[in-house]
Amino acid sequence: MSEKKGVVLNPLEIVRGLGLTLREFGKGITGGLVTLQYPEKRPDLAPRFRGMHRLERYHTGPYKGLERCVGCALCEAACPPKAITVVAEDNPPDPAEWKSPGERYAKVYDIDYLLCIFCGMCVEACPYDAIVMKHEFELADDSRAPGNNKFIYTKEDLLDRVFEGPKEPEFKVGKFDI
Ligand code: SF4
Ligand code: SF4
Repeated sequence: MSEKKGVVLNPLEIVRGLGLTLREFGKGITGGLVTLQYPEKRPDLAPRFRGMHRLERYHTGPYKGLERCVGCALCEAACPPKAITVVAEDNPPDPAEWKSPGERYAKVYDIDYLLCIFCGMCVEACPYDAIVMKHEFELADDSRAPGNNKFIYTKEDLLDRVFEGPKEPEFKVGKFDI
């Protein structure tokens, strides 16, 4: 038997391998399981985990309730896979009807989650801290057909809803939380 073709069985390695298997099996029995029972149990996410986005509003001060986004499209320019679409429009003449404190606001703000790589460049690029990334990550849906692409989240999906009434006291984002 040539040395190349031959397989040398080392009994000690077999015993070591079995020992490892038994140790992991023991962990399972004693409660040290490594398999997370998702979705019943949620994973502990790092504080800076980059999940789905939210368009922020001012929560205090003279602009309270207004959208932070002024439609400057710097996030769109910074997005490597071009997942963001921003279309800006002038704010109405009457300050009481302003959407944002700037001259303009984002009339359209879409994120295509089939393109997004969750890099966070949009967050870095925004001069107004208007776009943030939260901990939501469940994006499964049932259609990506043109005209019915459920992975394109619109401004309505992304906007901070904290001022929309007592039923939504927490800051939430995403179609599944609304
Ligand atoms: S996280 Fe990255 S890929 Fe996703 S929208 Fe922002 S810049 Fe684009
Ligand atoms: S999210 Fe920020 S960078 Fe993007 S359009 Fe709005 S203000 Fe500009």
